[in-house]
Amino acid sequence: MLVFKFGGASVKDVEGVMNLKSIIQLYENQAILVVVSAMGKMTNALEEVVKLFYKKEEYTAKILEIENYHQALIDALFQDKTEITTSLKTHMQMINDYLESIDKQKYDEIYDQIISHGELLSTLIISNYLNQEGIKNRWLDARKYIKTDSTFREAKVNWDATQSSLDLLEPNANLFITQGFIGGTSDNKTTTLGREGSDYSASILAHCLNAESVTIWKDVPGVLSADPRLFTEYQKFDQLSYSEAVEMTYYGATVIHPKTIKPLQNSNIPLFVKPFLHPEEAGTVINDGEFLQKNIPAIIVKNNQLLISISTKDFSFISELNISHIYEIFAKLNLKCNVSQNSALSFTVCLDFDEMKFEELIKSLETLFKVKYNENVSLYTIRHYDANILQKILEGKIVILEQLSRSTAQIVVK
Ligand code: ASP
Repeated sequence: MLVFKFGGASVKDVEGVMNLKSIIQLYENQAILVVVSAMGKMTNALEEVVKLFYKKEEYTAKILEIENYHQALIDALFQDKTEITTSLKTHMQMINDYLESIDKQKYDEIYDQIISHGELLSTLIISNYLNQEGIKNRWLDARKYIKTDSTFREAKVNWDATQSSLDLLEPNANLFITQGFIGGTSDNKTTTLGREGSDYSASILAHCLNAESVTIWKDVPGVLSADPRLFTEYQKFDQLSYSEAVEMTYYGATVIHPKTIKPLQNSNIPLFVKPFLHPEEAGTVINDGEFLQKNIPAIIVKNNQLLISISTKDFSFISELNISHIYEIFAKLNLKCNVSQNSALSFTVCLDFDEMKFEELIKSLETLFKVKYNENVSLYTIRHYDANILQKILEGKIVILEQLSRSTAQIVVK
């Protein structure tokens, strides 16, 4: 079985959905499991609904916008749109009913129950469209197969339960269409695996089904040494080792979700990153080989970072005990520390800014420490850096934190 993953950008419009169809047609005699994200920016739009609801603001206009977006795609793709339009309306009703019925649920739980409709809708539309076009397929509800705990928004996979449910999957179709990003708990609540988690879904499914390979179809020619939206100079890697790919994604390379590589590495399944507009191109293969292009530095930029400087209230040194308290607060709020540095009197840490957690974070830290922070800074990570590239990148920027190891430079700038 081949596992294909199509992200939101690849199915954002009618052309995208038709392109997905033509890629699948290239692999006619193969068994394929297709994992699809929510279309276009629908996850962001659904996120907006949850935020508005939580702030007790009007959210129905946003729901209508989401419905209209899907309806426009349906109108353009389907000859007979009755059935699929009913499904769309049912999902919109489910969102409304859920928001009207909830009582004491926490933000993260509400988030997952709402946000998951993006993937459910995209796969319903694509599966029905392919069937209409004579490409017979079976729609799978990923929540029945990817079993997780109930850490909403960052669910942990229960590998034994996931393996057992996938063992029961009858290979009664050559083509399966399922959702990325979402899973289900043992008591049938919907969970999500973290933003951009569809790649990880593809990898979980490939691992448990012992797939031949995974292909992530992207709007770039493969894994690039820098983001083409930010840099004019970049190169495509033809091949990367699993370890190098893990490092790059851990530091924030958004081309693949960080958790994607490990399950593939463990079962030695190659991961291809290919351009969806040029499926004949080789793209990048991530496999067990050596990292072949060590002399190409890889630049990873994370914007919208929060740099916090924490010191003790009584001017005592920052001790291990203090640091463990600080990390406890991060862990409780499920925040990932991107880079940290400590001196005798302060501990400085760079995190992804999260609007919904910011206040609680600062409040929790301030109960024990003195806290200063800078919002909206950027973190540059350069793998296999040299003096030249550092100079080029940092020109005109104010460096507020710098950390160099043998292979990796991490620099926070304003
Ligand atoms: N739709 C989800 C997101 O935008 C998951 C994904 O695209 O991988 O985060």
